[in-house]
Amino acid sequence: MSNQDWQGKHVTVAGLGVSGIPAARVLNGLGAVVTVVNDGDDERSRAQAAELEAQGITVRLGDGATLPESTELIVTTPGWKPDKPLFAAAAEAGVPVWGDVELAWRLRGHDGREPAPWLAVTGTNGKTTTVRMLASILEAAGLRTAAVGNIGVSLLDAVLGDETYDVLAVELSSYQLHWAPSLRAHSAVVLNLAPDHLDWHGSMEAYVADKGRIYEGNRIACVYNAADKATEDLVRQADVEEDCRAIGFTLGTPGPSQLGVVDGILVDRAFVTNRQKQAQELAEVGDVNPPAPHNIANALAAAALARAFGVEPRAVRDGLRAFRPDAHRIEHVADVAEVAYIDDSKATNTHAAEASLAAYDPIVWIAGGLAKGATFDELVSGAAKRLRGVVLMGRDRALIREALTRHAPEVPVVDLERTDTGAMSEAVREAARLARPGDTVLMAPACASMDMFANYNKRGEAFADAVRALADESA
Ligand code: ADP
Repeated sequence: MSNQDWQGKHVTVAGLGVSGIPAARVLNGLGAVVTVVNDGDDERSRAQAAELEAQGITVRLGDGATLPESTELIVTTPGWKPDKPLFAAAAEAGVPVWGDVELAWRLRGHDGREPAPWLAVTGTNGKTTTVRMLASILEAAGLRTAAVGNIGVSLLDAVLGDETYDVLAVELSSYQLHWAPSLRAHSAVVLNLAPDHLDWHGSMEAYVADKGRIYEGNRIACVYNAADKATEDLVRQADVEEDCRAIGFTLGTPGPSQLGVVDGILVDRAFVTNRQKQAQELAEVGDVNPPAPHNIANALAAAALARAFGVEPRAVRDGLRAFRPDAHRIEHVADVAEVAYIDDSKATNTHAAEASLAAYDPIVWIAGGLAKGATFDELVSGAAKRLRGVVLMGRDRALIREALTRHAPEVPVVDLERTDTGAMSEAVREAARLARPGDTVLMAPACASMDMFANYNKRGEAFADAVRALADESA
């Protein structure tokens, strides 16, 4: 859309918040007539509303359900559930609904600049890691790039800011994809699919379908996980540009049109001249940080997108070497008495915890929190053989304890009832008591943190503090 198209257009922004406020400002700046609607009417929203109103934006607090008259377009916060009455009213009135990503996509190039292509990443787990690895590889190739999207850097800023990019590494959540009907990436990956956010999407089918939107209209490559058939099925169902290729990644030996691992080397049999006979070495497993299996998978996915964009093998290696994982993602905190303490507080669901439990042996596992409707049988039975002991905490810990009774009855379990701030120190001390030299104490709770902590960062910090206190005591 050109700038003129926005003049006088009646746009309703749904939700004050990290995406709503910037969207309202940008649309107002383009000359649209903007109304923000918001469910809440608390002190904070009143202050935010006052700021927007000073710029000529109308704000309706305490009523996020009624569609303002003459609305021609809704731009919604991605977190708003599709079954909200506002969207039913919009459907009835024939008003389109865009999310923040759709808005950014439509505004690309509106100022006459050549828009940067998007390399897009989604999946249940590993998105942030993969997007950061990808940005690191693109940077190593000398490209102007940024890791943006669901990762904390707004796509609107990236698209409208002064900086010019050659290519963007874009993390997309299932919510954002739901509300981004016209997004067309250069190339994209769905890393893996496991049940998550089903209360929002309504069903696994709906969740998977929203994830699959990332492949729609891809130009060069649809990258899938060869170990997760559902991701390959999505590629098959996608309507893509002619000549767009399906590229798999695997932790095993790659077939033609795949990237994989051979004798500790990450190799590319997709972006080579003769993929029947040729394989191109990209990096060593040891170049990936940390070299846990699921993280090698993330690295292969990032490499596939970079190679689809034409990046040279050497830059893949250099970019992976330069990459440092974000905090609380399988972060090595310290070794105390020959036991390694690992913070994977970001493992907020069973699928993520499964990946980090697979990376260590033997393990003293610290788990528990808010289960969000998950069941733990599969996770516990898969890890049972590697568990030295388990320390459970948090509101839904009984669910994990019951799964342990069923699948690992011989593993000692410490059940902590307390939920105060000292609980994590006690958990770490109990774990230390269970551990033997050479073991790993792994805090990968498989649950959300909000029953005991403000968020997973705070939970991870509490763990790291407790481990450091333990190190001091034993020094
Ligand atoms: P996301 O952005 O999708 O939440 P992150 O990269 O932040 O993903 O990783 C979240 C958690 O998921 C990590 O703590 C790790 O335990 C786990 N994880 C990372 N990559 C994968 C993967 N490829 N498969 C399964 N679990 C993973």
